[in-house]
Amino acid sequence: MRTYEVIDAHVHTYKTPEIGRQALSGFHISGCCGTPEELTGILEEAGVTLAVQCNMTPARSMLEAALSGMPEEPSPAEKEALTRKISDRIRRRNRWTCETAGTHARLVPFISLDPIMGRDAMTDEMVQCIEQHGARGLKIHPGEGHFMPDDTSLHPVYEILERRGLPVISHGGLDLANPDPSFTRPEAFAPLLARFPRLTLVIAHLGRDFFEESVRLAKEFPNVFFDTSAVIPGNETGDPLEGLSSFTDREAVAFIRKIGVDRVLFGSDYPWFHPGWDLRRFLRLPFTEEEKAALLGANARRILGL
Ligand SMILES: [Zn+2]
Repeated sequence: MRTYEVIDAHVHTYKTPEIGRQALSGFHISGCCGTPEELTGILEEAGVTLAVQCNMTPARSMLEAALSGMPEEPSPAEKEALTRKISDRIRRRNRWTCETAGTHARLVPFISLDPIMGRDAMTDEMVQCIEQHGARGLKIHPGEGHFMPDDTSLHPVYEILERRGLPVISHGGLDLANPDPSFTRPEAFAPLLARFPRLTLVIAHLGRDFFEESVRLAKEFPNVFFDTSAVIPGNETGDPLEGLSSFTDREAVAFIRKIGVDRVLFGSDYPWFHPGWDLRRFLRLPFTEEEKAALLGANARRILGL
């Protein structure tokens, strides 16, 4: 019998199964489609109290797709109109994420921003989403957006989050969809961590494929944390998910202890992976009960201020 709380620190949700499947683009290992209703059912069954929605809008991909469909070089006005359209989509998705958390008690809303919106629009959106829509933090994906985490246009947003004690979750490490790791390898976050020493930053996927850099970063900066999503996945029976696990069970324990058990949060990256299956595997890892309590829930409560 488990006596501690479990929180999934990293999920994505989509309005409809169709939109979810489109985002998954053929990756259907978990059999999930990504709707809040489906996720809530899974969380309930697995005994997971909360899940942090790290929803984002792939702004740069959208812009590039639109530009490539244009017959000739767009005028500045056309380009501006396009940017405005994408910024509106980011805002709509943020509103939906917050509304979803309003109707699904287990879901925690993090919003996303992209420098494509411009500095002032990002600042306004962050404040509005916190004050009027209940956003609990920010998700960024520098790999998708091709910006450095310390991008100056994001500084006012980081100042707001730092002042209010709200966290940032960022994609971390290698990402097959965005193979240039220079924006998201752990060392890319050092300037941001140094500039905002009281900002809480969670780097996702333990910094996938740059694991030793994650260890060095954790040693240097007390304000950086990591989630386990997508790198310690389990299958239906709780065994390591074949071909997609970065660690064996023993390696996972050794590595997390090396980073620091107080610095790591359990996460699944639902709907790519299945929170219930990942939890089944995590519970079998050779950690002490005290370590499991920290990694599975207590750390998320403390670090994300839930
Ligand atoms: Zn994710």
